Formats: sequence, structure tokens, C-alpha cells
Amino acid sequence: MRDKLRRRYQFQKEVTRNGYFEDDIALSDLVRLGELLPPESNNEDERRIVVKFEFVRNEYDIPMITGQLETSLELECQRCLKPLEMPLQLDFRLMIDADDEVVRDSSVDTIYSENGYIDIFEVVEDELILGTPLVALHEDTGCNEHWRATTSESEVDAKDNPFAVLQQLKTTD
Ligand SMILES: [Zn+2]
Repeated sequence: MRDKLRRRYQFQKEVTRNGYFEDDIALSDLVRLGELLPPESNNEDERRIVVKFEFVRNEYDIPMITGQLETSLELECQRCLKPLEMPLQLDFRLMIDADDEVVRDSSVDTIYSENGYIDIFEVVEDELILGTPLVALHEDTGCNEHWRATTSESEVDAKDNPFAVLQQLKTTD
């Protein structure tokens, strides 16, 4: 069964009925992500994120949300600082309210419900923040004629990139 998207889900109920959802979310509804993107284009045209997900139990009987999201964001090329269209397709698998012990022994991350509810907008936004490349570069390596030919891409400094800061926070919490 497939249902229209809501923002919040009572996850125990959805796991029991194996709820499956697909729809799209407006990028403009994801405020934290929007603040990380170059403002010009992403806000003007109404960009959407196509989201599909279902509620399941894993082999240890722990509730999970698994799904996929697809969109295209406009990033800034770190070589020429001009817009760069970046198609993104991300799969996610997250346990819900798993114990610390389980999280330690598992390669799968957990999210935590709020009074039994999870907010799919938050999940999608976190996944996009984690999944967006830290350093975006045009495929055409000659997009900036002033770029020093000796500068390798690994030298592009990602430390001032807001995505890098957030991804750092995410992996240490
Ligand atoms: Zn470029």
C-alpha cells in the first residue's frame, strides 16, 4: 500500500502496518539545508525532493525507516565559484530509538523519535546535508582559466564549507 506523504509519523503504528509512502517535499521547506546552499537559484525555482520510504523491522526486531530520495541542488563550483547543478540520489536506512548498545554494535545509525513520532522532513534534511558533496567541481577542469594547474583537487580547502562543519557534528554525536 502506498500513501501520501505527511510530515510526522507515529512510527510504531507504521511499522506494524508496514507503511510505505512516496511523494515530494519542497526544498524551501528544509530551512537548515537552504541556508547552506547558494541563495540565488535554489530559492527561486520551486525545487522538489522526491522521497520514498517504508517502515520495517530489522532482523533484531528493531523498528527502521528505509528509503530513497532524489533531487538536484545547485551548488557552487569550488574552482570557478559559478553555479553547478548536482543531481543527488541517496538511499537511507535508519533504526528508530535503538539502544546505545545496539548502535555501537551496528553499522546502521539510529534516529530518535519525539514522543513516538518521527519527522520525515528532518530525516530527509539530515540525509541531504550528509549526502551533499563537500567539494563540488565542474567536470570541465578548465572552467576557471585562472585556476593554477598545479593545484590538485585534494587541496581544495573544505574546512570553511558549511556542509563540512555539519557533517563533522553529525558523526561525533
Ligand atoms: Zn567550475
